[in-house]
Amino acid sequence: MGSKNRDFHICFFPYMAHGHMIPISDMAKLFASQGVKTTIVTTPLNAPTFSKATQSSKTYSGGVEVKIKTIKFPSVEAGLPEGCENLDSLASPELSTNFLKATSFLQEPLEQLLFEENPSCLVADVLFPWATDAAAKFDIPRLIFHGTGFFAMAASYAVRKYEPFKNTLSDSDLFVIPDFPGEITMTRAQVPDYVKENIENDLTRMLKRAKEAEKTSYGIVVNSFYELESVYADYYRNVLGMKAWHIGPVSLCNRNNEEKALRGKTASINEHDFLKWLDSKEPNSVVYVCFGSMAKFNASQLMEIAMGLEASGQDFIWVVRTGQEYDVEKEDWLPEGFEDRMEGKGLVIRGWAPQILILDHGAVGGFVTHCGWNSTLEGIAAGLPMVTWPVSAEQFYNEKLVTQVLKIGAGVGAQKWVRVVGDSVKKEAVEKAVRRIMVGEEADEMRSRARELAEQAKRAIEKGGSSNSDLNALIEELSSH
Ligand code: UDP
Repeated sequence: MGSKNRDFHICFFPYMAHGHMIPISDMAKLFASQGVKTTIVTTPLNAPTFSKATQSSKTYSGGVEVKIKTIKFPSVEAGLPEGCENLDSLASPELSTNFLKATSFLQEPLEQLLFEENPSCLVADVLFPWATDAAAKFDIPRLIFHGTGFFAMAASYAVRKYEPFKNTLSDSDLFVIPDFPGEITMTRAQVPDYVKENIENDLTRMLKRAKEAEKTSYGIVVNSFYELESVYADYYRNVLGMKAWHIGPVSLCNRNNEEKALRGKTASINEHDFLKWLDSKEPNSVVYVCFGSMAKFNASQLMEIAMGLEASGQDFIWVVRTGQEYDVEKEDWLPEGFEDRMEGKGLVIRGWAPQILILDHGAVGGFVTHCGWNSTLEGIAAGLPMVTWPVSAEQFYNEKLVTQVLKIGAGVGAQKWVRVVGDSVKKEAVEKAVRRIMVGEEADEMRSRARELAEQAKRAIEKGGSSNSDLNALIEELSSH
């Protein structure tokens, strides 16, 4: 712990969605573990998620201390119901515009907090473009947290710049991303709507502002490690000319089961029960199925997933989100008698699972994922082959990294980028993709490549590893700023 780091105070301000809050919480713990005074700024109803996670490391990881400060979230002022402070609690997708509006009101309270706390640096989410101006008022550097990796940032830059989707005859024709390493192919249907359609709305205006804020901010911190995507990290730094530090996988800062169990929302299952269940299974025999904190599927898609899992013959843990149009507590989205038939073979978790605790268990041998960047990187850090089932955001780019570059995954065949509810995939495709990553020679090859990456990930965050060195270089540079 460098003594000079103690005068340096870093402040994190994550977007109010779990895919942003969880990695920032881990990142804050990483900085705190280097002796840096660390504060997370959030809203009252989101604070417990952070305090639970940071308290667990204080207790279990040698006294790492992270302070949590709150500012009011203007839900009602922006036309949201009282108590709606997280993107996952929106009752309908139409309210996302109101959510965006609410976050745009946060500049003033954030500035007040910066005035009171007097930090040396602000790491704010890319979705708060105005944070660069806020930091400038206090003459402190603003760093950006994007929530994704180098490959996706670089690929989306090249797709926006060259618009290769304009030269295809149909939505399903493949194009190669131009002037981009690796001959990466994708289709027009997989490119986000707001990139292809030139739409002007609150979201696209904010994204445009975010791009502009990137140019005037100090640089970006990336949850990734150099060995994973070195070519794309170089592309991002050299072609885009951005200052970037890779300091991940940040999830690896959770070293023991208690910390892993207390990360994110409160789990909907007793950790001892399912650990006992997993302990009774053979190594690499269970497939874990989870689509992150936002992706939605309709009841008929869930039915296909259930039938595909059953037909695959593999043991499984399947996480089904609550708050959708079907009632998860009922079983009408499951084939008749499914849970009775699957007793001992499959576990359905309704709500929230302690994901990294499950992924890191030796009985788990594969991961069906929506390719959110956190999940993708957590799957890599656990050394698992993956079935890729991208839905939205930058998830199709993450899929290409997994299947075409790293070659540690098999696509389920999701064809279309969608804003809300996932593209439909039939049970036969689910069964086939699950078998591909779980059994046979191809599965073994993917698993051994994934294992090698997991080893590299662990080395990256150890003392002297690439991410640990970048973290220290960043602290050093910011401390002397
Ligand atoms: N997660 C979890 N339990 C769940 C669902 C998600 O712990 O039941 C965590 C997961 O480990 C990851 C984050 O939530 O850290 C989801 O982020 P990701 O980027 O994968 O997807 P998003 O939710 O942003 O679509």
